[in-house]
Amino acid sequence: MRYYRQPKTGAPQGRAAKSLKLGVSPSIETTALKIPSGEPRIHSRQLPSNVITVLRGLHRAGHRACVVGGGVRDLLLNLRPKDFDVVTDARPEEVKKLFRRVLLIGRRFRLAHVMFGREYIEVATFRGSGAEPADAEGADAGDAVVKGAHGRILRDNRFGSLEEDVMRRDFTVNALYWDYADGRIIDHSGGLDDIRRRRLRLIGEPQLRYKEDPVRMLRAARFAAKLDCALDKRCAAPIPKMARLLRSEPPARLLEEVRKLFLSGHAVASFAQLQQFGLLYELFPFLKAWADAQPRAEAFLHEALETTDRRLNEGSHASLMFLMCVFFWGAVSMSPGIAYGSGKPPRHGQIAEAFRAVVRGMEFGLKPTRKMQADMEEVLARQATLQSDQPRRARQVSGSPLFRPAYRLLCLRERLGEVDEERVRYWRKRAGTAPSRSWSKRRKANAGRAAKRPRKEGGG
Ligand code: ATP
Ligand code: MG
Repeated sequence: MRYYRQPKTGAPQGRAAKSLKLGVSPSIETTALKIPSGEPRIHSRQLPSNVITVLRGLHRAGHRACVVGGGVRDLLLNLRPKDFDVVTDARPEEVKKLFRRVLLIGRRFRLAHVMFGREYIEVATFRGSGAEPADAEGADAGDAVVKGAHGRILRDNRFGSLEEDVMRRDFTVNALYWDYADGRIIDHSGGLDDIRRRRLRLIGEPQLRYKEDPVRMLRAARFAAKLDCALDKRCAAPIPKMARLLRSEPPARLLEEVRKLFLSGHAVASFAQLQQFGLLYELFPFLKAWADAQPRAEAFLHEALETTDRRLNEGSHASLMFLMCVFFWGAVSMSPGIAYGSGKPPRHGQIAEAFRAVVRGMEFGLKPTRKMQADMEEVLARQATLQSDQPRRARQVSGSPLFRPAYRLLCLRERLGEVDEERVRYWRKRAGTAPSRSWSKRRKANAGRAAKRPRKEGGG
């Protein structure tokens, strides 16, 4: 298992000073619960050696060193953690001096990456409340918590204590600290009890926390799905009304969160949570009209999501690009001049243009990146080629890198009644012999030819 972390796309660790006073009960602020022996514990052998190396290095230098977040939460839930975040009272510059290779990253959220070959362990410094003036040590304009419109946190470099750090995390189950010094768990927010009860609860006042960072609404849906937890009523209630705040989130950050929602093996459950909280149509605004008009839309979407989960759970590849094609298909198929089921099937260029028009017309929602858009256009437009009565150059078509996702979309569309069974059978024979992406990559490399860089999002 690699503990390589994707750089966080601006995920803030923090919250406003004000929120320390709002909604967090005094008992949460003051009573730290250290789990006594006999209670759930995490053993250092459950942590990867690189994480232990970092914790030990910090501890020996006299710093507090803990693991926090998903790593602790998932171990307690008997899940396999994706990664481990280390948190300390050492400042990033101090961390840099302690290890051989350290990269300091982020302006808005300064962090240290302790490098081990190509892998790294992310080390954050405890975030502070931001209420007091910046302290003398290392304080400058960059140390402040900066907020933008609607109280959104734009920068968070105010360092503080572990107790303050707790208040800036999102959910109680994500605010459990495994202390290297004694191997015990520090719980200031009732996270352990919530883990036991399978309850997802924001720390602090929900509306304020969503205003600070609207992506927390998507995180709520994701963790409810992934951990099979019920979102606390107080945290769930404001979401439908506040979902609009997502409209001003940077597309790259939304896309990253959506990738986690759908490519972590819980796509079906995540979709249901998004739907339940009224977040789905904020991401894919065009889905509603299509789902209302197409009685088989739900089955179509469900099958795509279920297959994604199955593939990932079997260790196969799944791409967000393909799922985006699935989500966009409805809008494309309803575009003027396309209208499946009546008249002549649309041509390649018509579908491509319809897709571009859908993306252009989106006033909000999740827009694909340019690269993803190019691949999606090809997969969607290729539906015309795959549906043609006399497909020419069938071998060439089935050998191209985006054939597989296009073929998979064709199969799904059979469920919508848009494609003949015979057509699917025709391409199934060719799909069976078509080289997979990785196979064709290897072949090209072996042949010593200048291999074209494989499409990152394609294939599958
Ligand atoms: P996973 O890695 O399984 O997706 P995670 O809880 O580790 O889940 P990360 O995005 O890796 O999630 O973040 C690590 C920790 O940082 C979280 O557990 C949480 O404590 C804190 N965190 C991340 N994003 C936010 C946010 N938007 N607001 C507040 N705290 C956050
Ligand atoms: Mg994590």
